[in-house]
Amino acid sequence: MTPQSSLDPVNPFARKSDLPYGLPPFTRIREEHFLPAFRAGMAAQAAEVAAVVADQRAVSPATVLDPLESSGALLGRVSRVFFNLSAASMTEGLRQIEDEVNPLLTAHRDAITMDAGLFAKISALYADRDAIEDEETRRLLERHHDEMVRSGAALPAADQARLREINAELAQLAATFRENLRADANDLAVHVEDGARLEGLPNDEIAAAKAAAQSRGVRGYLLTLRLPTVQPALTALKDRQVRRGLYLASVTRGRRGNVYDTRPTLTRQAALRAERARLLGFDSHADYAVADQTAKQVDSVMQLLTGLVGPAVENTRRDQAELTARLHADGFEGELQPWDWAYYAEQVAQERFARDSAWLRPYFELDSVLRNGIFAAAEGLYGLHFVRRDDLAGYEEEVDVYEVFSDSGAGLGLVLTDWYTRDAKRGGAWMSSFADQSRLLGQAPVIVINLNLSHPPTGAPTLLTLDEVRTAFHEFGHVLHGLLSDVRYPALSGTEVPRDCVEFPSQVNEMWAWQPELLRRYAVHHETGKPLPESALDSVISAQSYGQGFATVEMLGACLLDQAWHQLRADQPPITPEQVEEFEWQVLARHGLDLPAVAPRYGSTYFEHIFGGGYSAGYYSYLWSEVLDADTEEWFLRQGGLNRRSGQKFRDELLSRGGGVDPMAAVEKVLGRPPRLEPLLERRGLLPVE
Ligand SMILES: [Zn+2]
Repeated sequence: MTPQSSLDPVNPFARKSDLPYGLPPFTRIREEHFLPAFRAGMAAQAAEVAAVVADQRAVSPATVLDPLESSGALLGRVSRVFFNLSAASMTEGLRQIEDEVNPLLTAHRDAITMDAGLFAKISALYADRDAIEDEETRRLLERHHDEMVRSGAALPAADQARLREINAELAQLAATFRENLRADANDLAVHVEDGARLEGLPNDEIAAAKAAAQSRGVRGYLLTLRLPTVQPALTALKDRQVRRGLYLASVTRGRRGNVYDTRPTLTRQAALRAERARLLGFDSHADYAVADQTAKQVDSVMQLLTGLVGPAVENTRRDQAELTARLHADGFEGELQPWDWAYYAEQVAQERFARDSAWLRPYFELDSVLRNGIFAAAEGLYGLHFVRRDDLAGYEEEVDVYEVFSDSGAGLGLVLTDWYTRDAKRGGAWMSSFADQSRLLGQAPVIVINLNLSHPPTGAPTLLTLDEVRTAFHEFGHVLHGLLSDVRYPALSGTEVPRDCVEFPSQVNEMWAWQPELLRRYAVHHETGKPLPESALDSVISAQSYGQGFATVEMLGACLLDQAWHQLRADQPPITPEQVEEFEWQVLARHGLDLPAVAPRYGSTYFEHIFGGGYSAGYYSYLWSEVLDADTEEWFLRQGGLNRRSGQKFRDELLSRGGGVDPMAAVEKVLGRPPRLEPLLERRGLLPVE
């Protein structure tokens, strides 16, 4: 009897869904199905791994790697649905399940990665790895071996026991961080009684603020908070006091000394990560985290980051002088404040580039951006076709399901689109999956893309800002990485590449948003059907390079905070919750980034990527990937822009290969030479002014 048989067969997770591509049967899934499926799934995988260990046959990829990669099917089904829902549609019930299941999952994973019998088999195979000819198989073996070593498989039992405790506590702390941040952000939504004080904000955002207030039973308007420090509404709000209030609400998240304060959580996380790194033989968590990345060394990361500070700050100071003059011209005295920057920068951008979002937005209607922009680019480059399947249900009414076909008419997989913000949804934008492509498992990809767009008023179209357009193209780049995956092993599928390369394909996909030939197709007025005027087209494109000094400083602040928290050593006294603010200022000052008017993109207390998600010591990845991205963008343009030939090359060498190849080698194959830094400097306006 297998443990899996203990799961009630009416539980929708009990077997693979018979919907197309194994789409989860969302309409049949109830909260009470999760815990039994999790328990049965962990038991089943434990039994499957035990069978691999007990197997008497000689070690080979077929007797070790294949069964290992095939294990945990039930656990995979339930986990993917559960964690996608907990990110996008959280409920009190799911929250309780998450609290209960997280420690179990951590212990379960630890038991596998620290299994002595399994490690012996992997090590035996690893010792003879040069005999394996297939590159993907060899890389999978190296990945499993490194992962087990990095998880403590080679440590003495006492250290392993401590490691398990640390991992369990860290899993709990990350969940606490996310939960407290979400609660504090909801609590800090800015209440504005008088609609006149929202002057400057586009009508649909005013309507969204009104709807947000109504949904919480308060009068007037409620400005809800987005994840980054600088809230999008700061570009538009004319009333300086409202701007100030919104900004202060944003930066106060998680540091008000209330029950949602995230400082005790994050300082404990930093200390535990340092301790874990020391157990595993690393100087710091950053050293540990970077070792299996393409950067390999903390020094390489710091070299990239600190090398950008000088040019970025210089560029920012030039902009600051100009923006301060505008503040004074508006009758205010004194310094430009952080809540002023986005507002006056937007004015400059509007004048210089005719970037008036109020009249631009009707040209960026979601459906056209999607079909004539994002989908059209994927068709032009990779020959993909997207067909909406109204017969297939997503996990929310407003989630759409698309079937994707290749040129030949073969079905490739599914894409679920979840565009809108909900109180129960976490902030930001992301791609995730309900199933990963794998030839071994005969599985096609089922991918989901999430944004946090405001709901338009009933019956009105969804109009995007340029930033939202960029984000949609970006996340769709991750979608394509998952969708075009063509590998044997699920552990190497699609976005399963070193983290510091994972942003590369998504950043490359952003470039298509601003290609004139595509803009002419998708930027069409939703009422008149007229394309964006040619003059505006040029401005939209050149506006993309304005404000890069600010954006780089903001980004570097976040990267360096992340590095500082994770370069702490276990033998140093830990940072206390009371010292968080001082620690942040010291880090920024040390690197010359203590500019009063420009805060880091995320403050520590609401830095969800590193304390609530998987980017600890890895936020630099965005800039690291961008080096590759800027160079590749140049390559695409030299190849004549949007065409099937260059798309096919990029797909064959890179997108389809997932973690099955060395990413740097794959980039070199596309470019025909190693990547260079100059295209990034040029794009970000950081080359010296001549
Ligand atoms: Zn991304």
